[in-house]
Amino acid sequence: MRNISFGRPIIDDSEKNAVIDVLNNPILVHGPRSKEFENKFAEFTSAPYAVSLSSCTAALHLTYFYLGLSRGDEVIVPAQTHTATAHAVEFTGARPVFVDSEKDTGNIDISQIESKITERTKAISLVHYLGMPVDMGQINSIATKYDLFVVEDCALSLGARYKNVHTGLHGNVGCFSFYPVKHMTTAEGGMLVTKDEAIARKIERQRAFGVDKHHAGERKIPGFYDVNQLGYNYRMSEVHAAIGIEQLKKVDEFLKRRKLNYEALTVGLREIEGITLFKSTQGDLQSSYYCHCVLLNDSISAKRFEIINFLKEKGVGTSIYYPQAVPQFKYYKNKYGFKENDYPVAEGISNSSIALPVGPHLSQDDMEYIVNTLKIAIKEVR
Ligand SMILES: *Cc1c(COP(=O)(O)O)cnc(C)c1O
Repeated sequence: MRNISFGRPIIDDSEKNAVIDVLNNPILVHGPRSKEFENKFAEFTSAPYAVSLSSCTAALHLTYFYLGLSRGDEVIVPAQTHTATAHAVEFTGARPVFVDSEKDTGNIDISQIESKITERTKAISLVHYLGMPVDMGQINSIATKYDLFVVEDCALSLGARYKNVHTGLHGNVGCFSFYPVKHMTTAEGGMLVTKDEAIARKIERQRAFGVDKHHAGERKIPGFYDVNQLGYNYRMSEVHAAIGIEQLKKVDEFLKRRKLNYEALTVGLREIEGITLFKSTQGDLQSSYYCHCVLLNDSISAKRFEIINFLKEKGVGTSIYYPQAVPQFKYYKNKYGFKENDYPVAEGISNSSIALPVGPHLSQDDMEYIVNTLKIAIKEVR
């Protein structure tokens, strides 16, 4: 039987040897590899500055920590995203102010942002949902008008471009994830990119306890340093960075295969009745094809779990992005008293979608199998 997993990292001897190399040396943190990974990542995205971190969540949190947010502040957050996008605001005591999604892409509904801005708003965050870029021109004009900081959650958008410039470089910072099922992995890991040197330099300190001297080169006397600010321990280790360096060598190939799989899947899915697909790459918006999200129409959406189980029995792994709109997760619902249907489009996506895999671990033949199996599954539940 087929075994099509939703996501599977592609790890071979190059990553394994690179990890062994690290372990054969005493330097496991603060070494040359995290620096090299930053440089290579900056080269890949054309980012002026890149700061390696322990996760995308750490990158998002450090951004708000850098901004000095606290109770009473507000940040615009998309309702349809990973909970980390909102948690990062919560960590600081500030309040995430959720904005619903647009129907065509699931991205933040830009037309609703201005009505949510108050004198307490400090930043706009957004996610390039499933790799499809948000129209950053429109976001930046709102940000300029109200003098707001812009945070791009790029956890699903490695390789995605707006007006031919990589996502993450349109706002003030971009935060990437190297969690195993993302476009490339370091096991756990993240990266913050920015065009602003001052942000990069400050966040480099805040990721490492707020010490004033790095290990490499800056400490004239070993072990001697001062601490002039608070900081977390959000560094990326040499082991993780070594994996990242190897993955970056393959990332063009990964992205190419994703695109081909996505396109093959699109052709097949278009022939299936009862489902709607999101808009993908068009004009200035170049997607990075994280997955193919299928929205079940009203006639069959109540049968979603049956369809998912059917696919699973036939060896097709799926996922849900994301299982609930963030304001509908218990933590947020209880804390802020959100009610059902407060974010109807985002909730609709969570309640009626199935995410199908297009990762580079899969072939064109797998795409055909997914289409045929979904066709049968929908016929079965009708
Ligand atoms: C995966 C994901 C995150 C979290 O990334 P980590 O590296 O696991 O912290 C944040 N935002 C989005 C949109 C994600 O998909």
